[in-house]
Amino acid sequence: MAAAGEVRIAGRVALEGGDRHVHAARRLRQAFPMLEFVPRAAASTALPLVRLVEDKSLAEGAFVLTVRPGDNAEITIAGGPFSGVIYGAEELIARARVADGAVLVPAGERRAAPGLAYRTFWTWDHSTNWELSQVGHQEIGVFNPYGKPPSGFLGDYTRLVDFASRNRIPSVVIYGFLRDTHGGIDAAKELCRYATERGVRIVPGIAIGSYGGVYWEGDHPYNLSTWLKKNPQHAATMEKGVGFQIADLDFPLNFPRSDYTMTACPSAPETMDWMEEAVSWLAETFEIGGVNIESGDYGVCGCARCVARRNNEAEAARRVDDHGDSWSHTDMAANFPRLYRAAKAKRPDAWIYSEMQWDNLFDPVAHEAQRQLPQGALYQHTTNRTFWKRLQNELTRADVERLPTQPNVLRCQFACQWNGDRRTERYAFNGRVFADMNKFCADVGMQGLTVWGEPSPYHATVELSYLAFARFGYEPTLTWDRFMAEDAAPLLGGQAAAERFVAVAEELDANIELPVERLRTLQGEAREASRQNDDEASRRWLSLEDQIARRAYMGR
Ligand SMILES: [Zn+2]
Repeated sequence: MAAAGEVRIAGRVALEGGDRHVHAARRLRQAFPMLEFVPRAAASTALPLVRLVEDKSLAEGAFVLTVRPGDNAEITIAGGPFSGVIYGAEELIARARVADGAVLVPAGERRAAPGLAYRTFWTWDHSTNWELSQVGHQEIGVFNPYGKPPSGFLGDYTRLVDFASRNRIPSVVIYGFLRDTHGGIDAAKELCRYATERGVRIVPGIAIGSYGGVYWEGDHPYNLSTWLKKNPQHAATMEKGVGFQIADLDFPLNFPRSDYTMTACPSAPETMDWMEEAVSWLAETFEIGGVNIESGDYGVCGCARCVARRNNEAEAARRVDDHGDSWSHTDMAANFPRLYRAAKAKRPDAWIYSEMQWDNLFDPVAHEAQRQLPQGALYQHTTNRTFWKRLQNELTRADVERLPTQPNVLRCQFACQWNGDRRTERYAFNGRVFADMNKFCADVGMQGLTVWGEPSPYHATVELSYLAFARFGYEPTLTWDRFMAEDAAPLLGGQAAAERFVAVAEELDANIELPVERLRTLQGEAREASRQNDDEASRRWLSLEDQIARRAYMGR
């Protein structure tokens, strides 16, 4: 029976726009197998109607869901470009209830639009582990070989895309996008096709004259070591050894030299001609949703041409003082615009991120150079955990408006493997931090947030963290209580259970060591919750129990 204000739909349903909005139609068929969707053209006018339509006047990812009652009920999902119709279909699925072979949906209109436009997962291919049943998982590193079977790349990233599509995460940055050992060009093309269909932008990560160029690993003309072996005269003369260290990570990082660590001199015109050609090829060959461009963060060229061209003492000083900067803003400002234009020429709606590197938002070492950077690229400021505390205390909306680059987004370099103690923060409960960062970005006028998205949401702590990232990014005015009630509680066995889950996870995260006795108590609580719940909630508690059991086994 339909309750008051509900519209009941059963049997055959006419579907308009299903050929254009393939994934939205697929999701409706999956979610409502009791309905028989038939193309509108072939349907009788007496059937209830579901319309999928793009509305270009709406923002990307925005939608209007209208459910009109009557003898012939009509449901219209009007969505902004790229992902709006898909998000609207997911909203319809979430709001519907199924009873007696029929689908019941609340009548009326529901409008939604993203609070932060740019919400992005950041990943390396080798340490993105979403397909858990395969060998070769790695958890840290930037110069790693690929250890999984070649099919592992699509296995991991199609699962990530499925999650992103359902949870309104519109883009994923991938370093190691092109690599011979995981399917090279064909696998990369297939991933782009799969993601585009689902409203998720694939954004390859590249660096100017470093990190392998555009083709990270393989015998390809746009692979950096392949090119430098043919053109050794354009190799960089590094100021110091390759690598970087992170003050908020309490152990030193290791960067063994290899083909992965090769670097080209950005003052050689040939280097930038080659980079521009490669970016143009990347944007033309693959259905990408953007490019993440950085200057390279493991050292700068110190040749006479580079030193003379940069002419930036303040910046150079930061590389030798206790900042230990391993990049150059001046190099970035000089070279980014060419690559930006090359990508935009092929894909006008692409999101082109310009990485501004770490913890320097208050320090105008290259503001004059940065004023030349094109408006419309996304200027991404990365923050470690200590600097995040400073941002919260000091950064204002006026500061953001005064930045020489616009618009700006924040990138979280903690809540992952790159900050913290020996344990890694990858599997910690990071939901509160992601919620706070999204709200903060909205408050100070930043237009997006990027966080690491490598571990699988099989781990319930990770799943909840990702959901907080997704929900607070789309709706920064959301409250923590509403998030717990609407998102966490149904996954964990109710409101009280969800509160306990978060409390236990936070106790584990806050203490690098705990007495075994205390760990056993928490493990017992998780085990009990796992027993009392249905399969999926039970599995989530089991993943927490496993975290605790490992620590108890290690005696701390
Ligand atoms: Zn140089």
